[in-house]
Amino acid sequence: MSFSPLIRQLIDALRGLPGVGPKTAQRMALNLLERDREAGRHLAHALESAMEGVGYCRRCRTLSETEICDMCDDPRRDDGLLCVLQSPADVWAVEMAGSFRGRYFVLKGHLSPIDGLGPEEIGIPALLERVEGSAVAEVILATNPTVEGEATAHYIAGLLKPLGIKVSRIAHGVPLGGELEFIDGGTLAHALAGRTAIG
Ligand SMILES: [Zn+2]
Repeated sequence: MSFSPLIRQLIDALRGLPGVGPKTAQRMALNLLERDREAGRHLAHALESAMEGVGYCRRCRTLSETEICDMCDDPRRDDGLLCVLQSPADVWAVEMAGSFRGRYFVLKGHLSPIDGLGPEEIGIPALLERVEGSAVAEVILATNPTVEGEATAHYIAGLLKPLGIKVSRIAHGVPLGGELEFIDGGTLAHALAGRTAIG
């Protein structure tokens, strides 16, 4: 037996979600159709609105519904301190940790020459532009503590130091090979406080 075209299309679309395999996608689709059409319509509407309405902050490049996000717009935050991360999910992880009051800059992942991801692709020229001539005195490199994240941090440090900017790296308490967004808030706050200068 095979599914009719619209059901098939729904299952295929759900399979496109991260972590959803064929069995789960099928269960989700049938469950929505059979038991919860209202939730299905609500989901469709939420998806449509978010895909249309959420863009990127022009300054820090995190996900934002406004041209400049609330964090960049907040006058109480420290302009002298810039935290560089690999993804918007990492920004939320640091925000949830609650202790960082500086500004953010989001890269598009990490350097990966093998995948054709060079400095330009992940936004390093934009980072330099953001920093040069600004009030930023210290950059905290909070890329993931993976081999690629470390390599990316060192590459950026090499570009920032000649500009006379203090460069530090989160280290303490962040497990090697870990990903920032999955680290608990306490550990992450500790890692930021215990950052070390890149020598
Ligand atoms: Zn922003």
